[in-house]
Amino acid sequence: MSRQKQKEGVQQTAKRRVAGLVKMAVKEKNPVRARRYGELARAVGMRNRVRLGKEKQLFCKKCGAPPSKVGVRIKDGCRVLTCRECGHVRKLPVRREARRESKQDL
Ligand SMILES: [Zn+2]
Repeated sequence: MSRQKQKEGVQQTAKRRVAGLVKMAVKEKNPVRARRYGELARAVGMRNRVRLGKEKQLFCKKCGAPPSKVGVRIKDGCRVLTCRECGHVRKLPVRREARRESKQDL
């Protein structure tokens, strides 16, 4: 097996692990364990250059609080994520079908 192939295999495994850990963090009711899962997902992702995907934004960027501790509201066309642990507020634009439309124009 070539080095490249081996690396790809490791990354596939890491991808699965990260996805599983994120899912566990989202489902977990115990905030201590949920945070731990989030931290592990990030650590595994960083070590293997695996992106966490869109679930990443469900975690608090400042203190790493799990999704169950982050409140999401829609305000003025923005998603407002408020952390109930540290009070950190993040605003994310609500994405519509803008991308697909611009592709059709071309
Ligand atoms: Zn926080």
